[in-house]
Amino acid sequence: MSYKSYEVIVVGAGPAGSYAACELASAGHSVAVLDQKSAAGLDICCTGIISSECFEAFDISPEVIVRKVNSASFFLPSGKSTRLSSEKVNAYIVDRSRFDRAIANKAQARGVTYYFSTDCTDVNINGNKALVETWCNNSKQIFCARAVIIATGQALRLHHKLGLGKFKHFAIGAQAEMDTANLDEVEVYFNQQIAPNFFAWLVPTSPGKALAGLISSSHAKLHLEQFLLSPLCKGRLTATDINIRQKTIPLCALPHSVRERILVIGDAAGQVKPTTGGGIYLGNLGAQIASDVLKEALDKDTLSASYLAQYQKRWKAKMGREISFGYWIRWIYSKLSNQQIEKLFNKVTSGDMATVLLNSPNFSFDWHSKLFLSGLRYNISYPIHKISCLLPGEKNN
Ligand SMILES: Cc1cc2nc3c(=O)[nH]c(=O)nc-3n(C[C@H](O)[C@H](O)[C@H](O)COP(=O)(O)OP(=O)(O)OC[C@H]3O[C@@H](n4cnc5c(N)ncnc54)[C@H](O)[C@@H]3O)c2cc1C
Repeated sequence: MSYKSYEVIVVGAGPAGSYAACELASAGHSVAVLDQKSAAGLDICCTGIISSECFEAFDISPEVIVRKVNSASFFLPSGKSTRLSSEKVNAYIVDRSRFDRAIANKAQARGVTYYFSTDCTDVNINGNKALVETWCNNSKQIFCARAVIIATGQALRLHHKLGLGKFKHFAIGAQAEMDTANLDEVEVYFNQQIAPNFFAWLVPTSPGKALAGLISSSHAKLHLEQFLLSPLCKGRLTATDINIRQKTIPLCALPHSVRERILVIGDAAGQVKPTTGGGIYLGNLGAQIASDVLKEALDKDTLSASYLAQYQKRWKAKMGREISFGYWIRWIYSKLSNQQIEKLFNKVTSGDMATVLLNSPNFSFDWHSKLFLSGLRYNISYPIHKISCLLPGEKNN
């Protein structure tokens, strides 16, 4: 049997897979990307919100941006809302289909070959080769590579076969594209009845269009159907045919993200913020670290699991603590009743705490632990500051 041979095979043409492929091809390696879909950017279930930090770090084409974000309204269970805004742009909404296609096009321009409608069913290590089994056009095809990157997102079939372990915690995200006449900015809804343990959103995208979605521990599609029928959405959003897509979101790191000749990146490795379910930025950071380690490994011809383990060490050093911290923030939130959520938000939004945090250098759209700790620090120092202002001789401000 003749095999198609490449130095690296990437399984999955999402942002993480295509970014890693592009990096490796730019360093002169022969790379192929395999994806079960018939083209990049199809059947997307993602809102496409990325931070300005991500936009700058990964040289994202401005052509994929549909909107800049510097404000959002947050709705509490009682219906009360708070609007937060800042002078600078904190985030961008990208068209995820165009975004995925743009990275794939860039990778192709650097020499990466894409094989679509190619479903990877297994990876076997045979001496100094990785044999990648696929189904394409109803026939079995085997690709041969020196190393394989698994960037399969939520699809975990290969994880079981390769003994990579399981995600202990995950949630489900559901979303639908709707027509809208009067949605001007991002709206976020915190309500344990609407989106148990998480939140729901309405996000305006291109003119007249919006994404309505939510994350919840289970039954996300059902919760979204109910949200769309609720007075919060009724009359504001319409659609002739509502197409709800849903996807699993890992909320913790995968136990093993390397094996001999194999690295796992993106959602497939759990490189996701558990606070928001956002994974584009962390997935691209993971792809960058994986391609750096793999470039060295290919040059030295050392593709053992112990050598590649430095990838796992490096990505966990960069974002492991943030993911664990985010998981615990999320866990605490899941224990709150609607009444407690209301109280907590009233505390954050009364006075100037929210504005101070939003404009502080610690505000980061991606690294939430810094912001959370600043909030705690502010909460402790604010009453002391207020009391000291009331003391004789101090100016009351
Ligand atoms: C409702 C919702 C909203 C979201 N909104 C945001 C957001 O606003 N911002 C953000 O940063 N993140 C968001 N996310 C998360 C984001 O979508 C993911 O983090 C991101 O898509 C992960 O990229 P990836 O490249 O790792 O995987 P994916 O984008 O999932 O790509 C994986 C690819 O692998 C292919 N594949 C899978 N198995 C195989 C196989 N066996 N053989 C061949 N191909 C295979 C798939 O077809 C797919 O193309 C959201 C998620 C959900 C559910």
